[in-house]
Amino acid sequence: MSLKTPITVAYGDGIGPEIMNATLDIIQAAGAQLDIEVIEIGEQVYLKGNAAGIAPEAWSSLERTKVFLKAPITTPQGGGYKSLNVATRKRLGLYANIRPCLSSYPFIKTKHPVLDVVIVRENEEDLYAGIEYRQTRQTTQGLKLISKPGSEKIIRYAFEYAKNNGRKKVTCFMKDNIMKITDGLFHKLYDEIGQEYPEIEKEAWIIDVGSAKLATKPELFDVIVLENLYGDILSDVVAEMSGSIGLGGSANIGDEYAMFEAIHGSAPRRAGQNLANPTGLLLGAVLMLIHIKQHDIASKVHNAWLKTIEDGVHTYDIFREGVSKQKVGTKEFAQAIIERLGQKPSELKALDYHPRDDKKIVSQKSVTSKETKDLVGVDVFIDWTAGSAEDLGQMIDKIKSSDLKLTGITNRGTKVYPDGFAGTFCTDLWRCRFETSKPGDKLKHQSILDLLNQFYDFGFDFVKTENLYNFDGSAGFSQ
Ligand code: NAD
Repeated sequence: MSLKTPITVAYGDGIGPEIMNATLDIIQAAGAQLDIEVIEIGEQVYLKGNAAGIAPEAWSSLERTKVFLKAPITTPQGGGYKSLNVATRKRLGLYANIRPCLSSYPFIKTKHPVLDVVIVRENEEDLYAGIEYRQTRQTTQGLKLISKPGSEKIIRYAFEYAKNNGRKKVTCFMKDNIMKITDGLFHKLYDEIGQEYPEIEKEAWIIDVGSAKLATKPELFDVIVLENLYGDILSDVVAEMSGSIGLGGSANIGDEYAMFEAIHGSAPRRAGQNLANPTGLLLGAVLMLIHIKQHDIASKVHNAWLKTIEDGVHTYDIFREGVSKQKVGTKEFAQAIIERLGQKPSELKALDYHPRDDKKIVSQKSVTSKETKDLVGVDVFIDWTAGSAEDLGQMIDKIKSSDLKLTGITNRGTKVYPDGFAGTFCTDLWRCRFETSKPGDKLKHQSILDLLNQFYDFGFDFVKTENLYNFDGSAGFSQ
């Protein structure tokens, strides 16, 4: 039986092939036992007419190996091309995106000598569900989806990661002062799940204040868990703060599959010139070696990289007069690391990766939910430009229902009827809220259909509805 671990490799576009060659040369020289299958993804696949940038046969390689080492790709300009990264994460269920960022001060210039932060980003939900609409001429909208099982899994992953990697603190960033239901759920689950990890310090920040703190005092942070969009933005910022975006590697982890890559893109302007820093992909490959349980090789590669950095052998992006000793290209940098395999850094902290207690993360809270759910109203959104908020309110007031009454009209979330402010700027999308005539009453869906029939009879273009529910008597909708 072969002791080699099968992996799928994609060389990508732009600087992709150069940094992938460097990465594979280094990890194989270090003794990684890999059985490599190569697939084609990216620009050429898109241009051949495949809207997802990956051929159907490439999926079968991934299904077989379950481990994907991927170089960055170029998404062609223009519409109609789907993001390969988003598609891969969703199809393979890669719910956790892990991005460790570590300063190598004073060998790599950074304003933040002490920076050792791991971003744990939710990878499938949030605004990245890609559910967007234009239903009126003036207004567009996107759906932010935050689920209980999705949030629970990523938060548990963050705490388990901290526990297994000797990390002391897990910080949660969110914005539940504004997004009380979506980010509120994320924060609540963080608080609840955190209680199961008494040994780990916990801290929650509203993302704006937290990011400002992170940008100035990264030494106060350890593991940070966030929703998808916040994590996407902040992980690039933290990678750049550590010295260069070219330094960040990332792991995308699911229950069955995993993908490893650099944080950065295909840097087309640097392609083919033997200039690019292969570190991001190499450190992604280190995360892969840990995942496939070749820990000793992972440590060997990472320590040789640290030693190379310490010896001042630097690519252009991290080269600084006075600190760096030798400016090298991609190939020479890889060679310098290979020559140092087996060595450890003397000033920077050497790394020693060990097998971990990797347990499958399961969401426990969501399956057992026995909350009661009662339909108590409906928001009817209409496209309307024929007058003022007061004019609209008086027309909607004519819509009569025995079960439902109009409780207010808002425009862009601001109440404009009744008792609106004449100066409020309004667009063409109006939300008309109807709630049960008697508080505590429960509605049947038929009442909503009857109401919509009246909107139709009055000639309104109703573009969408959102049902209003109470859960265990508490409102499941923003007030
Ligand atoms: P980029 O990350 O490719 O480049 C941003 C800047 O960082 C450039 O100045 C570049 O020269 C520099 N840089 C990036 N990686 C470097 C490295 N390894 N060594 C030295 N310098 C490096 O971002 P971009 O220019 O916005 O995007 C270029 C292409 O990459 C686009 O087509 C984009 O869609 C794609 N992209 C792909 C991925 C991915 O496949 N995971 C991620 C991001 C962007």
